[in-house]
Amino acid sequence: MTIANVLLVDDEVGFVETMTKRLTKRNLSVTAAHSGKDALKVLDDNETIEVVILDVKMPGMDGIETLREIKTRFPLTEVIMLTGHATVETGIEGMKLGAFDYLMKPCDMDVLMEKVGEGAAKKRGHEDKIVQARVKEITNRRA
Ligand SMILES: [Mg+2]
Repeated sequence: MTIANVLLVDDEVGFVETMTKRLTKRNLSVTAAHSGKDALKVLDDNETIEVVILDVKMPGMDGIETLREIKTRFPLTEVIMLTGHATVETGIEGMKLGAFDYLMKPCDMDVLMEKVGEGAAKKRGHEDKIVQARVKEITNRRA
């Protein structure tokens, strides 16, 4: 059974391959992208993505720029930023911009899995609340 649908975004192809294998083994459904642009395309085409694991340092559109776009266009999708030692500040900046959390590379798989689970639960909680609010609205209108 799949725990959550994640999108893994990192410009390092080897890292993406290894992480995809590891996360898939732990029952995540993983879609991979190698740039911010690709990530947005995936999100456009795939409404089931719940959590984005996003590298901070990428050529072209960097992690922060990608995060801003994701939170603007897909506000309920939760984002976990992956930083290096030199880019921890960027992770913190990301949290201010709406990232769910950040982790330093190389990340502990147990911790990452925990964060993914929390992020997916948060998104589902938000969606449930929206559905309930809509139902309430409709019910009130009929009353
Ligand atoms: Mg990178």
